[in-house]
Amino acid sequence: MLTNDQLAQWDRENFFHPSTHLGQHARGETPSRVITGGEGIYITDRDGQRMLDAFAGLYCVNVGYGRQEIAEAIAEQARELAYYHAYVGHGTEASITLSKMVLDRAPAHMSKVYFGLGGSDANETNVKLVWYYNNILGRPEKKKIISRWRGYHGSGLVTGSLTGLELFHKKFDLPLAQILHTEAPYYLRRKDSAMTEQEFSADCAAKLEEMILAEGPDTVAAFIGEPILGTGGIVPPPEGYWAAIQTVLKKYDILLIADEVVTGFGRLGSMMGSTHYGIEPDIITIAKGLTSAYAPLSGSIIADRMWKVLEQGTDENGPIGHGWTYSAHPIGAAAGIANLKLVDKLGLVGNAAKTGPYFLNALTSALADHPKVAEVRGEGLLAAVELAESGNPLTLFDPAAKKGASVVAAMARRGVIARAMPQGDIIGFAPPLCITEAEVDVVVDATVEAVKEVL
Ligand code: PLP
Repeated sequence: MLTNDQLAQWDRENFFHPSTHLGQHARGETPSRVITGGEGIYITDRDGQRMLDAFAGLYCVNVGYGRQEIAEAIAEQARELAYYHAYVGHGTEASITLSKMVLDRAPAHMSKVYFGLGGSDANETNVKLVWYYNNILGRPEKKKIISRWRGYHGSGLVTGSLTGLELFHKKFDLPLAQILHTEAPYYLRRKDSAMTEQEFSADCAAKLEEMILAEGPDTVAAFIGEPILGTGGIVPPPEGYWAAIQTVLKKYDILLIADEVVTGFGRLGSMMGSTHYGIEPDIITIAKGLTSAYAPLSGSIIADRMWKVLEQGTDENGPIGHGWTYSAHPIGAAAGIANLKLVDKLGLVGNAAKTGPYFLNALTSALADHPKVAEVRGEGLLAAVELAESGNPLTLFDPAAKKGASVVAAMARRGVIARAMPQGDIIGFAPPLCITEAEVDVVVDATVEAVKEVL
């Protein structure tokens, strides 16, 4: 068996880690952390240390670790048929069954699902389909996509452009032309502190409309947004936000892509974030919770009104020129079926609806009055604690002080994993949806102790 030192050396010498400070890692200044096992909401590393994972990996292991039902389904699929492609009408029993299960869980006006591998490629598919759609409708100028500052939609060329976080743009020459960003619905950081939530939502919608008019409505194809801002800070929308935005989009015949990579399949305490907030999208992006990350799989769920145009397109132009070798991979599909069955069997959407508010109440009553806590916020089992020098008016810490990361490190020393969100001093929580109230108490205690230690 390899020693820890040997593995750490191979890691430094050979492994290019995503979203990592490459120099520090290669020099051994950041630890090589090797995770070896997982059970329920806990993971274990090679040193035998057990940690409560209050971020479910990257908010994806919704059913928790070590689920034998899913492992068995994957193994059985691999033994029977590890792979066949989905091109030119081919399918497997698993991929066809999963498409039905996904549509059964999507809003009623959705019609078909295209399967990819991860959230980034699904959003890439979505942008292509939006462009195709407008070409078929004979309006080739209508191509621009409006995203939001602080939105996260992936890190490919188009999807990294859709993402509204500086880290994902800088030195990559992004965003690409055709991709624009509008105001983030971040009520805490509104410029006019006298605004109510409703007024701020109306203002976000007005800014969107101004942008559409400045660009020319005939050039704007789609708007993309997460029902609740995720990686940009875990920020639930202010009251009235989605209704106000949708009114503007409808007025200018602009498609709506709801990126539900995080919110899909129960995280907010509803099966889909779209239904939770009364959003009526033309496309829904799904990934993480589709398989709880037991295998890579994503999807683009297409509304009926859009599907009809895509069909017309292929009648006029032949087969759609879009597909990945691994689209609808049978092992991913088998994992998806077993995962969604487990979500139902364990009542995890209901658990998120019940345990989420318990979590938010506990965090709020423990921390909301702390002078360096600007806000405790969340929805379902997605929550955040935002730190600031002062909350009223909002005065942020110097980013170089890394207060959020220090709190997360202090939590890790207490055996609990949270996430320092990439922009701002924000501690993010997205535990597996099977978390119990007793386990929530452990997370809250570690957070409170860590905040007190650092601040
Ligand atoms: N969309 C959202 C809302 C996400 O949170 C993420 C990843 O965190 C993505 C898209 C990209 O997904 P992936 O990392 O699987 O490409």
